[in-house]
Amino acid sequence: MISAQEALARLREGNQRFVAGMQDPFGRMGPAHPLTLPREQAPFAVVLGCSDSRVPAELVFGQGFGDLFVIRVAGNIVAPSQVGSVEFAAARFGTRLVVVLGHTQCGAVLATLEELRQPADHQSPNLRAIVDRVRPAVEPLLSTPLAQNDHQLVAQAVRANILAAANHLRHGSALLERLIDRDGLLIIGAEYCLETGVVEFFDGVPAGV
Ligand SMILES: [Zn+2]
Repeated sequence: MISAQEALARLREGNQRFVAGMQDPFGRMGPAHPLTLPREQAPFAVVLGCSDSRVPAELVFGQGFGDLFVIRVAGNIVAPSQVGSVEFAAARFGTRLVVVLGHTQCGAVLATLEELRQPADHQSPNLRAIVDRVRPAVEPLLSTPLAQNDHQLVAQAVRANILAAANHLRHGSALLERLIDRDGLLIIGAEYCLETGVVEFFDGVPAGV
């Protein structure tokens, strides 16, 4: 299995190919290698992303079958089943890079801000479970000057939610902590921009990578 640093370089290249492909309609937006249907899997990165239909992880990273172990859930939240999925991939396949991939204008973050400002009376308990996972990261922002500027508030709330999810993965599992300390597992936070297609890796990226 390749190192976390090599995996990150591969994702960066893939996203650059994707962005270039958008600007060149005759270019290829897909993976660098021919598509094959692998019998075994050896994903080089785990992506915990949002379910948003505009952010398909394999496409935005220019990857194909067998390349990424993708967990998608609204708001890229971390609940026990997401931690367990990351543990499974890291332990079973030796995958050494985990990317929490949030995105601009995330509906789950917007819904949480709405709920904080104007609590709904009869929200589904299942939807509430998602909002409750997002809430601790974004609630403190409402008592800062950001609360006066909707655009900046949403932008910061999205980033705060990504940071919280990445931190939860780093500290919410004895197995993952051990892999981080001993085996070079890297958990980083990234944001996909809906307008440009660019992924910015902004949290937990080692210096010089
Ligand atoms: Zn989203």
